Amino acid sequence: MPRVGVRPAAYRFCRRMPFTFAEGTLISRPMISRTTTPSDLSASVARLRDLVAEAASILPFTGAGISTECGIPDFRSPGGLWTKTQPIPFDAFMASARTRAESWRRRFAMQAHFGDARPGRGHRALASLYRAGKVPAVVTQNIDNLHQMSGIAAADVVELHGNTTYATCLACERRYELDWVKARFEESGEQAPECACGGYIKSATVSFGQAMPVAAMARAEELVDRCDLFVAIGSSLVVWPAAGFPLRAKKRGARLVIVNREATDFDEIADLVIRQDIGDALAPFIAD
Ligand SMILES: [Zn+2]
Repeated sequence: MPRVGVRPAAYRFCRRMPFTFAEGTLISRPMISRTTTPSDLSASVARLRDLVAEAASILPFTGAGISTECGIPDFRSPGGLWTKTQPIPFDAFMASARTRAESWRRRFAMQAHFGDARPGRGHRALASLYRAGKVPAVVTQNIDNLHQMSGIAAADVVELHGNTTYATCLACERRYELDWVKARFEESGEQAPECACGGYIKSATVSFGQAMPVAAMARAEELVDRCDLFVAIGSSLVVWPAAGFPLRAKKRGARLVIVNREATDFDEIADLVIRQDIGDALAPFIAD
């Protein structure tokens, strides 16, 4: 059976690991700063504009909320797909051909959401800041490829949970396009296809229980340490490692902005919290 390499336990993708545990040393929060939560959109945008102007290196960190206006559901949200259908864990995928086939059946069913999705206002705003040289790269929990489609070079999109718009062989890492997988799947009577090397082909996402991509994690941490403005957008910041980044950035002296419809555990240490529609909040930063 093909296996991915053994990774440190800390790199495993866990659901809702409390950040207090992941961070290890978080006992008190000494770096409380002036949190502002402007009640109206124009005040939020004005404050964000100032912070963006003052920053030399901005690191956007994005979650599902930036893509909901693109028609991609937030699978973790109440009523979301994952509250109705449990995601398939990695070990189950590896253990059974039937489960691999089920995994592909589900993926093709989701194509209605992913296939036609186009970047939203939040993606376009970040692409504008990227072109302006303010944003070196984007770190994302999303698997929808929309940052790349908005014009950010693939090399500058750090995907912590992988990418669902293509597949890879788990043994030799060869890339496969979904159309190819779908054709093989259908002509074989819904059998999950395998690579010529004998490895299993899986969508290029990180499943629960699957090792986190080590290179992406390392790059993300490096970017967090180098930024002077960390902007969390559309993430509830509860899934580790996402939960560790705002605090890490803050400890290194960066300013912290949180743009999310709901409150997060980090709002009280943020320099600015924008609890409004993400597209509305970021649209003023679209330069094209
Ligand atoms: Zn292979």
